[in-house]
Amino acid sequence: MNSNVISLLNLENDNPQCLAAEDYQKDEGKWCAGCGDFGALNAVKRLLAKEQLKPEKMAFVSGIGCSSRFPHYVNAYGFHGIHGRALPIATGLKLARPELDVFVVMGDGDCTSIGAGHWIHATRYNANLTVLLLDNNIYGLTKNQTSPTSPQGTISNTSPSGSVLPPLDPLQATLGVSNASFVAQTADWVPAHLYATLQAAYEHRGFSFVRILQRCPKFTPDVFTEQVKNPDLTELLVHENGVNAPGLDKLFKASREHDPTDIDEARALAQRTDLLRLGMFFRDESFPVYDDIRTVSPVSAQEKIRKLEKEFDRYAV
Ligand code: SF4
Repeated sequence: MNSNVISLLNLENDNPQCLAAEDYQKDEGKWCAGCGDFGALNAVKRLLAKEQLKPEKMAFVSGIGCSSRFPHYVNAYGFHGIHGRALPIATGLKLARPELDVFVVMGDGDCTSIGAGHWIHATRYNANLTVLLLDNNIYGLTKNQTSPTSPQGTISNTSPSGSVLPPLDPLQATLGVSNASFVAQTADWVPAHLYATLQAAYEHRGFSFVRILQRCPKFTPDVFTEQVKNPDLTELLVHENGVNAPGLDKLFKASREHDPTDIDEARALAQRTDLLRLGMFFRDESFPVYDDIRTVSPVSAQEKIRKLEKEFDRYAV
């Protein structure tokens, strides 16, 4: 029996069949006070409780970074991997254990820099994964280096005079990949929207890519300040097939009807910088999912050994 199951059995719960959000918490989150990762973790725990997912039936895979500590804090199987490699690990896990719900948590440095190649190809593979990009526009764990999503002019340890390159936009990049089937954006400071987005991502069968704008009060305290203070700087993308969080229309005056099957409009919206946009940019359930279309011919263990030995024999001297 794995340790996750043991910890579950020790939980004090009036109804052992019914898990509450707190039951999915493992260790205490060791992030800075006010870090947006806490909000993401809370939304994930709410989702797991809503779906009543069994800890032994799901896995959280991460790379390296502040947000990549996620697997330590969720009562589930976890794989805290190596920098930039969360997606190939998660894809392999999902293909080998299709019955597991597999979640991937990455930061912007992890996903859009060293892991960029994996990100593009994992999007194209469209394996059935729920993918969270926690984007705080900086390398936080390694103490303040410019990341690909840092705004131009960011002053950091690697750009003491200010970064010179325009930032890479994760939405535009993902929307540009053939077979991208789910692209959404939400923010850690809008918990109802964050939760509804994760719910939609979990329900989507395929590679569900969610960019979560994440506050880092330690190193990028000013990045989202204006949008947090002034909801008029945010526009909600709304549609019956999009992200639907009740009550947000009272908070955000600006909203736009956007059909998430319209890829051209999704790309056009992702390019605009006039307002911050939260919602479903694109979703298409009809795209091929790698789990379904890959071909694997059954090979017995003996046959594998025979083929390996035959291959080794080619190099015999
Ligand atoms: Fe969060 Fe930033 Fe602290 Fe990392 S450095 S834990 S991202 S606030």
